[in-house]
Amino acid sequence: MNCKEAQRLLVPYINGDMEEKEEEQFVKHIRHCKECYEELEVYATVFAGIRQLNGAEEEIDYRTLVEDSLETSEEDMRDTYFLTTYTILMKAASTAVLFYMIVRWFF
Ligand SMILES: [Zn+2]
Repeated sequence: MNCKEAQRLLVPYINGDMEEKEEEQFVKHIRHCKECYEELEVYATVFAGIRQLNGAEEEIDYRTLVEDSLETSEEDMRDTYFLTTYTILMKAASTAVLFYMIVRWFF
């Protein structure tokens, strides 16, 4: 992902309105690109400010706003990765058990 693409995704990211794969690439880019990181910081601050003006009760810590959100994204990715690995392993295990049972029945 390049800077242009990342910056197009700033608002969808802040609104949580993004495909999982896209979010993963976006966060990776933000982590390695100081310019986009700073851009995200500006957007996140502005959007958080608007939410508060609209009467949101949430406590906003502007210093950690972007870090918190990036960390949440990264945790979600780890969870997804774990879940995918787990699902694959479970499928492999049940196939093996099924195969074993068939072999037992027929031989
Ligand atoms: Zn960039």
